[in-house]
Amino acid sequence: PTNNLSAKMSCPMKNFDVNGVRKDRIVTTSNGYQLNSSFATQRVGEHGPLLLQDNALLDNLAHFNRERIPERNPHAHGSGAFGYFEVTHDISDICGSAMFDTIGKKTKCVTRFSTVGGEKGSADTVRDPRGFATKFYTEEGNLDWVYNATPVFFLRDPSKFPAFIHTQKRNPQTNLKDADMFWDYLTTPANQVAIHQLCILFSDRGIPQSYRHMHGYSGHAYKWSNKKGEWHYVQVHIKSDQGIKCYTSEEAAAIAGRDPDICHRDLFENIENGNAPSWTVSIQTMTEEESKKLPFSVFDLTKVWPQSQFPLRPVGKLVLNENPQNFFAQIEQAAFAPSNTVPYQEASADPVLQGRLFAYADAQRHRIGPNYNQVPVNCPMAKGFFNPLIRDGAMNVNGNFGSESNYYNTNSKYEFLEQSRPIQEHQEIWKGPAIPYEWVTSAGDVDFIQATNLYRKVLSKQDGAQGRLAHNVATHAANCKSTDMQKRVVDMFTRVDQQLGNDIKTEISSINSSNGKPKL
Ligand code: NDP
Repeated sequence: PTNNLSAKMSCPMKNFDVNGVRKDRIVTTSNGYQLNSSFATQRVGEHGPLLLQDNALLDNLAHFNRERIPERNPHAHGSGAFGYFEVTHDISDICGSAMFDTIGKKTKCVTRFSTVGGEKGSADTVRDPRGFATKFYTEEGNLDWVYNATPVFFLRDPSKFPAFIHTQKRNPQTNLKDADMFWDYLTTPANQVAIHQLCILFSDRGIPQSYRHMHGYSGHAYKWSNKKGEWHYVQVHIKSDQGIKCYTSEEAAAIAGRDPDICHRDLFENIENGNAPSWTVSIQTMTEEESKKLPFSVFDLTKVWPQSQFPLRPVGKLVLNENPQNFFAQIEQAAFAPSNTVPYQEASADPVLQGRLFAYADAQRHRIGPNYNQVPVNCPMAKGFFNPLIRDGAMNVNGNFGSESNYYNTNSKYEFLEQSRPIQEHQEIWKGPAIPYEWVTSAGDVDFIQATNLYRKVLSKQDGAQGRLAHNVATHAANCKSTDMQKRVVDMFTRVDQQLGNDIKTEISSINSSNGKPKL
């Protein structure tokens, strides 16, 4: 199926088709000069040197040099598809966004899945969280849900993000992935807030078999409001209708050699064969009063909301049924940012989310340029956009609003939304001095409780799941050069559960023995 998005490309040339290609298929240089030979180069005689005037060759080679845009720093490696979100349940008491206003309503969307730490060409089957980002082309503007496949994250202070991601990447000297860097960061007392995410990452769910077989989570609390002005904190869960399927570490390592693009292939081929994957979208909601009674902050990205207390409430279905026509144009250039939101869906004060509100759009300005929202996949499709102040800049390709004034003031002709949206009742009130504040200086017991719950109450239900968590941590931490670092890993997981610590210690010791290293 042809992707309708391409049809929206504003191309001034009548002889272009919807994909921006000449209908007559006559090959030209990039300025449209028709070529009469594919590979002929202008030279002096048959075998003499080439001429600088040969624009066809220069055009070809010069553009080739510029084919790559900077890959995303985290989330470089990804796959994606188009589809739709369909409302199945009324949530008008929670959210007034137009995309939810009618049961059965469908909103077109694009979803990009990704790994986090690896480069663009890295293998699909790595133990790494997965990104799960969706852009909805709603009638009220584009809404991006920039989520992950795990419900929590490694940190809750956004200032730590660059340091943390660096430790998941390559050592600056060796240019190798480095287990010591990885565990040095994560076992530092202040950074042990990552323990919950680590227990999920090293559990059976750490390596999804495909993007179709994993869930997505908002992770953060968002603030959604209804048309009466009442608001709730909301967490979104996007649960796979295909069920969860994952690889063991050993299977994943073998597949990384045999078919490193297996998840990409799986998504593309299933959609191509009409086997469209779907997910059930649900929300958890919490009032401000309820949030004050939590044993942790509602803005703490390392915590989940217990489902017995905050049950899942279904909202709709996400279906991906259309492959991109062009991967670079529609997936590599798809630019997701949590700051892209629509009325009645707001960010909360979660500091990591607040940091992301800046960092994501900024990353795309760097990768694609300040006009990245003019790229068709990023354009607000339903009603377009108009803002006479957003002008010029590199790669402005939409006509730049023509002769419209480049400023406005109160008596200018431009219109703003007349009907005001209801003011939210009972706004959060923030007050206090502007001070530098580091949330975590040392992870406390409260930061371990949910990891312990996962280990004892969720994993223990599955045959051998606890042992596999220990095995997955041990085989990774055994790569640390020093036994001191390995001991730090054991000590940290012992705080989750004594048995878990013991199991990790035993297996690291055994691997050390076979590598000629001292036991722990
Ligand atoms: P519940 O028993 O109500 O829910 C357990 C949740 O854990 C389910 O959503 C289940 O997903 C998920 N799960 C099962 N195995 C794993 C795994 N290896 N890694 C990650 N998630 C897994 O429990 P609570 O809400 O009381 O939470 C208990 C623990 O469950 C938490 O401490 C947290 O670690 C984990 N969890 C909780 C979530 C939440 O939103 N409350 C979300 C995800 C995990 P499924 O439905 O697919 O089986």
